[in-house]
Amino acid sequence: MKNYIYLIAFLFAFTSCKKETETQAKETPIEQKKAEFSIIIHGGAGTILKKNMTPEKEAEYNAKLEEAIRVGYNILKNGGTSLDAVEKTINVLEDSPLFNAGKGAVFTHEGTNEHDASIMDGSNLNAGASAGTKTVRNPINLARAVMEKSPHVMLSGNGAEVFATEQGIQIVDPSYFFTESRMKSLERVKASEKNEVASFYDENIKDSKYGTVGCAALDIHGNLAAGTSTGGMTNKRWGRIGDAPIIGAGTYANNATCAVSSTGWGEFFIRGMVAHDISALMEYKGLSLKEAANLVIQDKLTNLGGTGGIVAVDKDGNMVMEFNTPGMYRATMNDKGELYIGMYKD
Ligand code: ASP
Repeated sequence: MKNYIYLIAFLFAFTSCKKETETQAKETPIEQKKAEFSIIIHGGAGTILKKNMTPEKEAEYNAKLEEAIRVGYNILKNGGTSLDAVEKTINVLEDSPLFNAGKGAVFTHEGTNEHDASIMDGSNLNAGASAGTKTVRNPINLARAVMEKSPHVMLSGNGAEVFATEQGIQIVDPSYFFTESRMKSLERVKASEKNEVASFYDENIKDSKYGTVGCAALDIHGNLAAGTSTGGMTNKRWGRIGDAPIIGAGTYANNATCAVSSTGWGEFFIRGMVAHDISALMEYKGLSLKEAANLVIQDKLTNLGGTGGIVAVDKDGNMVMEFNTPGMYRATMNDKGELYIGMYKD
């Protein structure tokens, strides 16, 4: 009887040990493929051509993109959240006059600056956005406060500014956002005004005054986040709101799939629900992030007549930059600290 019990105990120990080895063997290659964390940014897509760029301007863009992404990289490397990485990285780009967000935002028809922004937390599908604000220095901070401190997803105009003030978010005089180069763009666009629709679209594209900023990140806790901030499009009017503050169009994040930030001709990104469409193709059709982004930007958006691009990271840390314009300011950093910066089509 005693020997029989020993035999059963031995067999039990043997099979559980075998089971563990099998499980490990199955899981190890997947684990090895995963990046601990990743971060990707854009500074807008458009007619960005080497022949139009001076070495000095190129160096300025490179330096700012690197400065911004390193902020997020350091947060992620130290175990911080993807939400913090996205917000703080975007702050650097918002504070730079090089990009069409925060300081350096494009001008509306009336000569004002109106900002749109949004942020999304992939761990719980929580999201926040602000639209048409004129005095909030860093609109991405307001978007995050809307997400975390209000029962709403999107606030706009004066109400959003009242909320921002109540939350202690920095308010500035509208003159803070003024830049000479963006004013010149507005004057150029207005001077060439043939009819309202043609000038709005043609001149924005010719003038390549996209330049929205965005960021997507995966943190070591496995959480994805994305955010986007913009001044919109030059000569916009009637309180026009673009895709940047629209969850699913300009920004989307879902731990089950990916995190996406868009830039380009906003009306088409809204109609195509670009950011969410990429996630949906992964979720429902099992496409990889690369396949989904390629299909949405190169086929669906292009066929619709839209121009622009996206940056995205999936739940395994794979990063994708997809655009159908001549260029897109962009940068990536992986968990090994490898940095990539690009502007033109490779
Ligand atoms: N998507 C932005 C908008 O339409 C513009 C941009 O990306 O630069 O407002």
